[in-house]
Amino acid sequence: MEIAAGLAAVARGFYARGWLLGTSGNLSAVVQREPLRLAMSPSGVDKGELKPEQLLSIDENARIVSAHEGKPSDESLLHIRIVKDRGAGAVLHTHSVWNTILSDQDAAKGGVTITGYEMLKGLHGVRTHEHTEFLPIIENAQDMPALAEMVGATLNKHPAAHAFLLRRHGLYSWGQTVAEAKRHIEILEFLLEAMGRAFDTQRRRSD
Ligand SMILES: [Zn+2]
Repeated sequence: MEIAAGLAAVARGFYARGWLLGTSGNLSAVVQREPLRLAMSPSGVDKGELKPEQLLSIDENARIVSAHEGKPSDESLLHIRIVKDRGAGAVLHTHSVWNTILSDQDAAKGGVTITGYEMLKGLHGVRTHEHTEFLPIIENAQDMPALAEMVGATLNKHPAAHAFLLRRHGLYSWGQTVAEAKRHIEILEFLLEAMGRAFDTQRRRSD
């Protein structure tokens, strides 16, 4: 219940920042590893009004194991893959304006490269602004089992990545705890917005 309350509080905070508008985005946290049980946000719910009791409990096949009528988020399979492949304790997914713009702008390069920013030190294990973080961009799709396979392959190819982007869709990050995953999303949303705004300013000057 503490985990559900933590996720609901994060959802309301992210909603207030405009990162989960229109029932978009989703949140999960591991409640138990063996067998796997995840607290998962339900599909189609306003994240600005998410209550702890609305969090579903799902198994490793994204089936509801709690006494809920709701439907787990369509993207539950991606959360489960990240939990398994990264050993994450929590996974958070946002649809902000800036992550959507940069996920498209840098798609041809395969990802967004972030380096030289002090805020990078908010990512787990990063000690200096000289760190280079590469956020892989995965082409968006509606076939969730296939997309989960792509996520698994991408995580495998980029073992140091703290997050990835789905093209014209959103950002996924994770952490050992809900608090760490929240910190990672805040850091990355800040950096993506800073880079996006800087790029926009440069483009206007050169026009
Ligand atoms: Zn999404």
